[in-house]
Amino acid sequence: MTTYDAIVVGAGPAGSYLGYLLARTGRRVAILDKQRFPREKVCGGGLSRKSIALLDFDISRVVHRWLHGAFLTCQNRATIVKDLPCAVGCTVLRNEFDQMLLTRACEAGAHFLGDTRFTDVNTHGPRITAQTSRGEFSGRRLFAADGVASAVRTKVFGRQLVSHVPVLEALIAVPGAALQSFGARAVFDFGSMPRGYGWIFPKRDHLNVGLYSPFGGTGLRRRLMEFIDRYPAMRVRGPIEFRGYAIPLRNRAGVFERGPVALLGDAAGLAESLFGEGIYFALKSAALAARAEVERDAGADAMHYTRLVRDELLPELRAASMLAKTLYSFQDFTFRHIVCNGRVNQLFAGLLSGDTSYRECLRKTVFTAPMWMSKSAPTTNIAIA
Ligand SMILES: Cc1cc2nc3c(=O)[nH]c(=O)nc-3n(C[C@H](O)[C@H](O)[C@H](O)COP(=O)(O)OP(=O)(O)OC[C@H]3O[C@@H](n4cnc5c(N)ncnc54)[C@H](O)[C@@H]3O)c2cc1C
Repeated sequence: MTTYDAIVVGAGPAGSYLGYLLARTGRRVAILDKQRFPREKVCGGGLSRKSIALLDFDISRVVHRWLHGAFLTCQNRATIVKDLPCAVGCTVLRNEFDQMLLTRACEAGAHFLGDTRFTDVNTHGPRITAQTSRGEFSGRRLFAADGVASAVRTKVFGRQLVSHVPVLEALIAVPGAALQSFGARAVFDFGSMPRGYGWIFPKRDHLNVGLYSPFGGTGLRRRLMEFIDRYPAMRVRGPIEFRGYAIPLRNRAGVFERGPVALLGDAAGLAESLFGEGIYFALKSAALAARAEVERDAGADAMHYTRLVRDELLPELRAASMLAKTLYSFQDFTFRHIVCNGRVNQLFAGLLSGDTSYRECLRKTVFTAPMWMSKSAPTTNIAIA
């Protein structure tokens, strides 16, 4: 039996990117996934510029649309058009994006096994043994990148570590002219989901439409249909494919590793509460885990990865959570004074581009609200085609 330096469970962004980074350092890496690749993943496929900036290779082959701005709206009535000089991100299909990351990992030397479901783990003894549907794998370290319902997390850390909220999306084929009407813009609708928002992300041949709230919510399917019906661009459409899943919002105990087992991405509860963005945190946690591995071999202590996550990710995630809870609790106020204020909404665009931190955004919006509130720019009324 081959003994690996790292066994990575899950070939989503967290697992494949970690596999890529570790294989490049010459480590023997196995990436296991229960699915055959390429595989579908329920996801809006909105990739922020700060996520793209983490990768040291070109992703333009899998980009469906570069996003240079957004329609910021409340139920497609009052609408602000926000355009930016540089792309703030892009849209991708997750089957294509994840396959590209996995290919990179394999080219760097990682060994991929699809159709291989993790079932249990034995951490006793000098080596760790992962049991899977295709036999046992032995290694020095086990990285759980197996998503929000992580089986590794359940086995090693118990059931209660990570809380999550349900999210619903729909894939809708619309005529080319309707697709083009979005141009290089996404839609963020702050009136279609109570205490949350609705999104429309244009892809090459369809729209990805969904609803998210950090508070969760009920009646998602009915609300999503109402949201869709509000937009003339989606009146003429093919059959709608609904897809629901969950976004993790909190690691309740702030625990990210135990002995030789570490948690990454959704498995670790690392997604942000404001937009529900998870891909950035999956990639970033992979980068931190790879860095911790290298620095541990050079003498850093056993909990180095945990320290890096606590220092570099948790303060941002906490600020995102405070922003989300405050802004979505006062949705009308937020739309009028934050979304419609050009200077303030620029800060939020900066969250996606990476030009603004969540802590800075919290300080400059919520904490100093009385100072800028009276200067809100007037709302422009336009209807989306
Ligand atoms: C509806 C919806 C829309 C979203 N939209 C966005 C968005 O637009 N932008 C954004 O940034 N984030 C978005 N997210 C969040 C984003 O999808 C996740 O945060 C991201 O996929 C996390 O990546 P990951 O690598 O941690 O896990 P995943 O991408 O979930 O990958 C986990 C992998 O582990 C495998 N696996 C699971 N169990 C096992 C097992 N037992 N054995 C072996 N393999 C296993 C799975 O097959 C999968 O390939 C959205 C989420 C949802 C639900």
